[in-house]
Formats: sequence, C-alpha cells, structure tokens
Amino acid sequence: MSAQGGGRSRDVIVIGSGPAGYTAALYAARAQLKPLVFGGSVFVGGSLTTTTEVENFPGFPQGVDGPVLMENMRAQAERFGAEIVEDDIVSVDLTGPIKEVTDTEGTVHRARAVIVATGSGYRKLGLPNEDALSGRGVSWCATCDGFFFRDRDIVVVGGGDTAMEEATFLTRFARSVTVVHRRSTLRASQVMQNRAFTDDRISFAFDTEVAELHEDNGMLSGLTLRDAFTGRTRRLAATGLFIAIGHDPRTELFEGQLDLDDEGYLKVAAPSTRTNIPGVFAAGDVVDHTYRQAVTAAGTGCAAALDAERYLAALA
Ligand code: FAD
Repeated sequence: MSAQGGGRSRDVIVIGSGPAGYTAALYAARAQLKPLVFGGSVFVGGSLTTTTEVENFPGFPQGVDGPVLMENMRAQAERFGAEIVEDDIVSVDLTGPIKEVTDTEGTVHRARAVIVATGSGYRKLGLPNEDALSGRGVSWCATCDGFFFRDRDIVVVGGGDTAMEEATFLTRFARSVTVVHRRSTLRASQVMQNRAFTDDRISFAFDTEVAELHEDNGMLSGLTLRDAFTGRTRRLAATGLFIAIGHDPRTELFEGQLDLDDEGYLKVAAPSTRTNIPGVFAAGDVVDHTYRQAVTAAGTGCAAALDAERYLAALA
C-alpha cells in the first residue's frame, strides 16, 4: 500500500477503476488534483476486464480487448499523476467538509472531494459454468454483444423491460429468439410486452427456468430448460444466452449517507454528477439505469472530475 493515510487531506479520492473511475482520475490528474484512486482488490479495471473484444468504444476501428482497453486507461491516468491503489474501501464518512474513506487495513484516507464510480453487477443465474462461458455464448448485454450472434438461436432470460428490449433488439441478428421466464406473466411494461408479443421472431417459454448450460470446446452449445411446476426438463440447441434479470448497483457502502433511488442506484442532480452531499460526485453504472456502456461511464467520469474541480475551486 503506497497511499497516504493519516491526517493530511487530498483534493480528490476516486472509488472505482472502471471507465468512469479511470476517466475521472485522468481529468482530475490533468487538473493537478493528484487523485488517489481505489480500484478494488479483485476487480481492478472494472467490468470490461471480464470480456474479450469491445467493438463499440470509439477510437478503435478494429475493436480492442477489454482488459487492454482498461490497462491503457490506467496508464493514461497514471501518466498525469493519478495514484492507483488495488484495494477496497470498506467504509466511508462523507458527511463533513473533509471526507473520510477507510481501506481494508483500516487506514483512513481524507479528501475534500470524493468521486464514487463503483459500478453495478449483472445478476447471474447461479449456474456452475456461467462465468466460464461469459463471452463464449453467454452475455449480459445485447447492445455490447448482439452483433457477434448473427444467425444464431438465442435465449433471453428475464421478464422485465430490459429482457423485452434485449429480445427485440436481438431479432436484428438472430435466427430465433426465445424468451425464458420463470413466471407465467411478464413484469415488463405493456408497451414493451406488446412489441415483443407481436414480433413473430420471438417465442416465449413461461414458467420455465434454465437448469443447465452445455458447452462444446469451451463455447455454449445448448441449454437444459426446466418446467417450474412439473420439474420436467428439455434440451434447447441455443448457442447464445442473454441474461437480463437485473443489476445490483454497488452502493451498500453509501447507504444512509448518499440518496439512493428505489432500485439502489445513486441519485445525482442530472445533468451534473452532484449527489446530495456537497463535494461527493457519482459517475458510471452506479448511477445509470439506462445506458450502461463503457463510453457513457467514461463520459460521466469526465463530468464528475470537472464538477469536483469546480467545487474545489469555489472553496478556495
Ligand atoms: P465498472 O467497470 O463496473 O467498475 C467499477 C469499479 O468499482 C471496479 O473497478 C471495482 O473494482 C470498483 N469497486 C467497486 N466497489 C469498490 C469498493 N468498495 N472499493 C474500491 N473499488 C470498488 N460496455 C460497452 O460499452 N461495450 C462492451 O462491449 C461491453 N461489454 C461488456 C461485457 C461484459 C461481460 C460486461 C460485464 C460489461 C460490458 N459492458 C460493455 C458494460 C461496461 O463494462 C460497463 O458499462 C462499464 O464498465 C461501467 O463502468 P463503471 O466505471 O461505471 O463500472
């Protein structure tokens, strides 16, 4: 651990090292604010380190490997003086003019401004080989990966708006789309349901769960579906699975201090990144219900650093 603890206060601490955190760090570093970035202990570089090819981050006409993109973002922030620590923040006190964040060794780090960029996690089905097949037929993001699934038979799991949106979007590429939902009715809004029901390329398997993922040469080769009532199983030869059963924003640390919405995302005074506490800003997927893309996370990370810079300038 090279970060300074103790009494001295920094200008800016960033929590998170995904596209939002690294972009905030880059901008804060170039503004001479010497940001200290806590990147997490197991997830340094954020969600894109768990994928292979990223084809929709601007500036890479041939696409770029997710981990490589994140290493580049890190190097760019470090080049201007950002200090990146591979550790988790386990508690925060953001209420006073000097914010305190505590790492896993119990060291308290202080700053006048904090940028929260802790992201959100996709909910998983909990099947044994689900993680291993991520990027190998299993995906959580149709906007990101739909293009790779041309002429394939695809299953979308979920019954909410996101699942309907993903299913409808995937019909542009897929040979067939089957929505698998464990209940007998959808949770999605009526308009999204109607759109999906009237699309003859989408079929539905209600009261059904995914019981097993089959693989061939490390790629998804089929699914076993189970009837939620009878327990009867059947095999489906789909080679694409999109899991759309929700997200969990990483906001437990901030409960009771920062305002959260009904789904647990941090609330900001959009279009700014200001939270309810002066000097605390939030960016990326921890705020974003809607877009959840690397480029939008980077964009709001930039905005958070600019907001922090202005906040600090007004204090001076
Ligand atoms: P994240 O990237 O999730 O980063 C969150 C960071 O917070 C991590 O570094 C984590 O370690 C850190 N953190 C969390 N809690 C703490 C704590 N207590 N202390 C310290 N650090 C903490 N988007 C695209 O645009 N194109 C794609 O092709 C694409 N493909 C994807 C493929 C997969 C498999 C996944 C999972 C996502 C994909 N996405 C893609 C979505 C994209 O990754 C996210 O939208 C983006 O990473 C969000 O950035 P973020 O910085 O908000 O959060």
